[in-house]
Amino acid sequence: MATTKPIAVAAPGRVLVLGLGRSGRAAVGAALRRGITVLATDDSGETCEQAELLEPEGAVARLGEVDALVVSPGAPADHPLVLAALDRDVEVISELEFAWRLLGPAPLYAVTGTNGKSTTTALLGHVLGTCGRKVFTGGNLGTPLSDAVAGKDEQPWDCYVVEVSSFQLERVSGFAPDLAVLLNLTPDHLDRHGNMQDYLAAKLAVFARARHSVIGRDQDWPSRARADGCGGVPDPSAADCSSFGSSPLPAGDGGVCWQAEGRTVTAADGWTVKLPDHWPRVAHDHENVAAAAVLARLAGLSGEQFERALGSFEPLPHRLASVAAGHGIEFWNDSKATNTGSVLSSVRALDRELLLLMGGVDKGADFSEVASCGARIKTVIAYGAAAGRIDDDLRGSLRVLRAAGLAEAFSVAVEEAEAGDAVLLAPGCASFDEFADYAERGRRFEQLARGWIAGIGR
Ligand code: ADP
Repeated sequence: MATTKPIAVAAPGRVLVLGLGRSGRAAVGAALRRGITVLATDDSGETCEQAELLEPEGAVARLGEVDALVVSPGAPADHPLVLAALDRDVEVISELEFAWRLLGPAPLYAVTGTNGKSTTTALLGHVLGTCGRKVFTGGNLGTPLSDAVAGKDEQPWDCYVVEVSSFQLERVSGFAPDLAVLLNLTPDHLDRHGNMQDYLAAKLAVFARARHSVIGRDQDWPSRARADGCGGVPDPSAADCSSFGSSPLPAGDGGVCWQAEGRTVTAADGWTVKLPDHWPRVAHDHENVAAAAVLARLAGLSGEQFERALGSFEPLPHRLASVAAGHGIEFWNDSKATNTGSVLSSVRALDRELLLLMGGVDKGADFSEVASCGARIKTVIAYGAAAGRIDDDLRGSLRVLRAAGLAEAFSVAVEEAEAGDAVLLAPGCASFDEFADYAERGRRFEQLARGWIAGIGR
């Protein structure tokens, strides 16, 4: 799909970058490749040799020298420098927006949603790459979009597949993807966004200037949002919107329908993909494949091309995988399930009696929703910083036991488990009280499971 950039917004000539984590450092690099003067500041002492580094206290005074403040996704929305910039009418943009303004005209495919972003982004990138496109895959997943920014007049990419978070969408004004998908919407990051309305508004920004929008037609968020008077919700009956789902495809919808039993994804015009045996296995991954299929189809791939590439896709680790089994007990690692919606979809996916490990750092979630799957959950083992909140929210409806950390929670789970049960790590929380990230947490769980099976601790 060769396009010209849908909306061209002038890139700033001088910027101040707030936050020097991965995204901020990448923004500095992009600025330098394009001859943009760049200042930078970071509250936690991160440094960056390529930019003039400002002390946090001194940064406000230098706002007058720049055209825009570029904020990293980790910087709070009410950071004093952000508020000062707004006060002085200095444009505040996210790293995503900054990178977008510097990219060439190749089409950009944006993937957002509460859950499934990384899986769908990685899959679409893999499929397009396998079919010979020079594809940049990144954004919130892996490599920041700023890293895709090449020197002036260089065009290294045929297309960009970009995972986009709600934080990155908070400050966009020109970002105009060719294709944009919102996979699903359930509560998350309410500690940052405050309420569901603001979280939804941030997510809907992905569609504001998209050429074509894609949504899930079996989900209830679009009708709820419309009923709440929320504008900007795409309508799948419109020519510039398509849908994915397992319910029949409405007439005129250019999207796809997935079928778990027949293991197919089909569009109305006969575009068909036969799913491989190895993956997807659970409903939420069928949704992710179907969403990626709509985008790939709109990007010009045939069903045969998608099917061939899907055969060599390796699902990302720590996303609901069976990682060990022994003594009649199966261990499932879904360390990436960091909100209540993903915990629910994992619990629903496993047709077993479960010992559910939940815990870590709470992001403002209402854990009581997990009780709607109560029948399969024998016991919740609540651990870590959020143990008290999980216990409070679930005690009335489920059996809850408490543990200090993941290792202790694991010991409690195997003590409680009987042959035929599954032990599921689906923490519903961030990992930072105990681990560097979800991957370290997942690896620890896998280690505990293998150690236990090998006889340690029995
Ligand atoms: P994200 O990047 O949005 O966090 P991932 O692909 O990393 O998404 O998946 C995170 C977790 O969300 C998975 O471990 C799984 O439990 C759950 N999940 C994945 N896809 C979906 C989906 N389409 N709907 C609901 N839950 C999902």
